[in-house]
Amino acid sequence: MIIAVDGPTASGKGTIAKGLGRHFGLPVLDTGLLYRAVGLQTRVMGLDPDDPIDAARAASFPDSLLQEPDLRSVACGALASRVSVHKRVRAALLERQRQFAARPGGAVLDGRDIGTVIAPHADVKLFVTASIEARARRRHAESRDRGETLTLEQVMDDLAKRDERDRNRAEAPLLQAEDAFLIDNSDMSVSEALEHAISIVEKARQQKG
Ligand code: C5P
Repeated sequence: MIIAVDGPTASGKGTIAKGLGRHFGLPVLDTGLLYRAVGLQTRVMGLDPDDPIDAARAASFPDSLLQEPDLRSVACGALASRVSVHKRVRAALLERQRQFAARPGGAVLDGRDIGTVIAPHADVKLFVTASIEARARRRHAESRDRGETLTLEQVMDDLAKRDERDRNRAEAPLLQAEDAFLIDNSDMSVSEALEHAISIVEKARQQKG
């Protein structure tokens, strides 16, 4: 079974993807980490994240970079959003994601274009979202726990910019697939959102027989 989990930044899609992976015994790929690694690699190599050729060079980052704690920072998220607009970067990361989706027992992938581009044939597609205020509060708390000193307004501003860039880019924009189930978790706890996601997947699986 392939489960595609898409949604905007800090919507809780990563937590839901991990929870689904645990519940159904499936491996999980956080595809945002790949784009974050490309963004970080532009910094390591002194390349321009807004230049398509430079960004594509950074797409051949070493795997060890995926273990770098700084990847989760707000700054790396912003770099990821900048490099991810380039066609060559997306093409360089495509095969790796498709191979993961094709694992024999199935997989859960979370990102922006899983249900639309990476695994359009996924068995179940979820589009996870929450209000910008709820997302900013969560991302602000996470960044504070990591020792970053951003204000709530700065985090909200970063999210608004990323939403805008991710939704309006020409290549694989953030978009709810027609056959995706919408989960707006603005007023749900983490466990409520996960239970809801599990029940959707269970139902979809039963319907498929
Ligand atoms: O999900 P996360 O916040 O880690 O993603 C960082 C950035 O990487 C996003 O803002 C988006 O621009 C990009 N991304 C993407 N396609 C994906 C996953 C992430 O374009 N499948």
